[in-house]
Amino acid sequence: MSESSQKKQLEAYVNQIFAQEDDVLQRVMREAAANDIPPIGIHPFEGRLLQFLAQMIGAKKILEIGTLAGYSGIWLARALPDGGKLITIEFDDKHANIAQQNFDHANLTDKVKIKRGAALDILPTLEAPFDLIFIDADKPNYLQYLEWGIKLVRQGGIVIAHNALTSDDRPRVLGSDEAGDKEVVAYNQAIANDERVNSMIISAGEGFAVAMKV
Ligand code: SAH
Ligand code: MG
Repeated sequence: MSESSQKKQLEAYVNQIFAQEDDVLQRVMREAAANDIPPIGIHPFEGRLLQFLAQMIGAKKILEIGTLAGYSGIWLARALPDGGKLITIEFDDKHANIAQQNFDHANLTDKVKIKRGAALDILPTLEAPFDLIFIDADKPNYLQYLEWGIKLVRQGGIVIAHNALTSDDRPRVLGSDEAGDKEVVAYNQAIANDERVNSMIISAGEGFAVAMKV
């Protein structure tokens, strides 16, 4: 068996026992495809991992940068207790409209607020602190999102960046030089060195760079 087909089978195994999609999550995927939204959202086991991390730290207030169709947002919002809140930032109106429909359909209307606009314009307007911040938007701005993340997260809270290792199967950190790659490399190095955070990469899926504010 090739290494990549074994990896796919192991991922399917984990999906099956920990991350089965219900009708709501399956509908998000269908709606996204039907509306020509690119298939760049996280995978089921990645959603479950985010949800699990949120539950581990008892997150009540979560921020996401990069909503797309709301798939990762639903996994995260489902980790919230009653009265919890997910704020998710999206600058593409089509994505935000479909995501709003998906959050409504998931009965998460009260828990989720989509903020429409460019992340760097929205971030200065937000009310800290957040327990968990998930960064999954334009890679060239990742270092700026890290600064905002450290500013807006509570002590003991976590800033998680997606695509810390790959986008799809394309490595971002092994000397490649497509848009955003050098910023992802710089991001990982920054959280490794920065004394404001205690960090590690979880090399599941496309890679999660997790930084806990000390
Ligand atoms: N987290 C989603 C996937 C996000 S894809 C999931 O896993 O389901 C990245 C999203 O970020 C896209 O919808 C894109 O429109 C949005 N985006 C990219 N750059 C942005 C920016 N500067 N400000 C706000 N949104 C941005
Ligand atoms: Mg991603």
